[in-house]
Amino acid sequence: LSRIREGLSRSSSRLSQGITDLFTKRKLDEAALEELEEMLIAADLGVTTAARVAALLAKSRFDQEISPEEIKSALAEEIATVLEPVALPLRPDPANKPHVVLVVGVNGSGKTTTIGKLAKSFRDQGLSVTLAAGDTFRAAAVEQLKVWGERTGSPVISRDQGADAAGLAFDALKEAQARRDDVLLIDTAGRLQNKTDLMAELEKIIRVLKRQDPMVPHDVLLVLDATVGQNAHSQVEIFRNITKVSGLVVTKLDGTAKGGVLVALAEKFKLPVHAIGVGEGIDDLRPFEAKAFARSLMG
Ligand code: GDP
Repeated sequence: LSRIREGLSRSSSRLSQGITDLFTKRKLDEAALEELEEMLIAADLGVTTAARVAALLAKSRFDQEISPEEIKSALAEEIATVLEPVALPLRPDPANKPHVVLVVGVNGSGKTTTIGKLAKSFRDQGLSVTLAAGDTFRAAAVEQLKVWGERTGSPVISRDQGADAAGLAFDALKEAQARRDDVLLIDTAGRLQNKTDLMAELEKIIRVLKRQDPMVPHDVLLVLDATVGQNAHSQVEIFRNITKVSGLVVTKLDGTAKGGVLVALAEKFKLPVHAIGVGEGIDDLRPFEAKAFARSLMG
């Protein structure tokens, strides 16, 4: 929690200071509400959340003096209400041998790292995990996944650079099925520069997996880098057009002033947020806790 707090401190301290400045000895009048709303939008919380919070405050306290602390706790409560329904950990169904998780997202968002961290957390729960190096486009991605495989004691299925990702995913599924593994995590390429290729490749992976088992993939996890701020919205839209995204992991919350974007994403897409990334280390994936996150956002 302290890591998140540290990371969010850039956004929260600005917002927190702004609220303190705005509401010291000042009534909650129309102008103050408007300024508050702007401040929330600037903190990436999204227009809808900002408007709703302002309206709620106006309803109960309009034209009264209100302390910055009261504003912050009301805000934290409101934000927690938005986040609560989406704070859902990723739980592999033990009936699936393996439970297949396809991990998608643009290059650099933290897919491979998140897979490593997830593998660690599943291994800690006593589950057997196989990793599939489906980003066959970049040799570095395959090497990186192999390192995570070694660190977590998870076999890695890989092929040479440039190999067909769908074929690799299919082989990985067959191997993991034969071993009756608990979890199969499939990495993918995320070349947004060429959306047609990306789309074709992801569609093919899913089609080929379904040929083996129509229920696969059980989860499609979209990894988003929080530091891209509002751009995260368009990334969700792009990937939802390609495939049925079932949940999100938001990374790099340790180093960003953009933590508020999670609130806007929750409000707009209502997709489960399975976990958050708060560093590059193996243990830097945290369960997403609505109340704690809302509180740290308020500083
Ligand atoms: P991919 O291209 O989507 O597979 O992204 P990578 O997993 O290779 O990650 C890209 C970079 O972001 C790497 O340098 C990671 O160490 C770093 N990274 C991933 N997750 C986090 C996080 O939660 N916090 C920080 N600070 N860095 C992260």
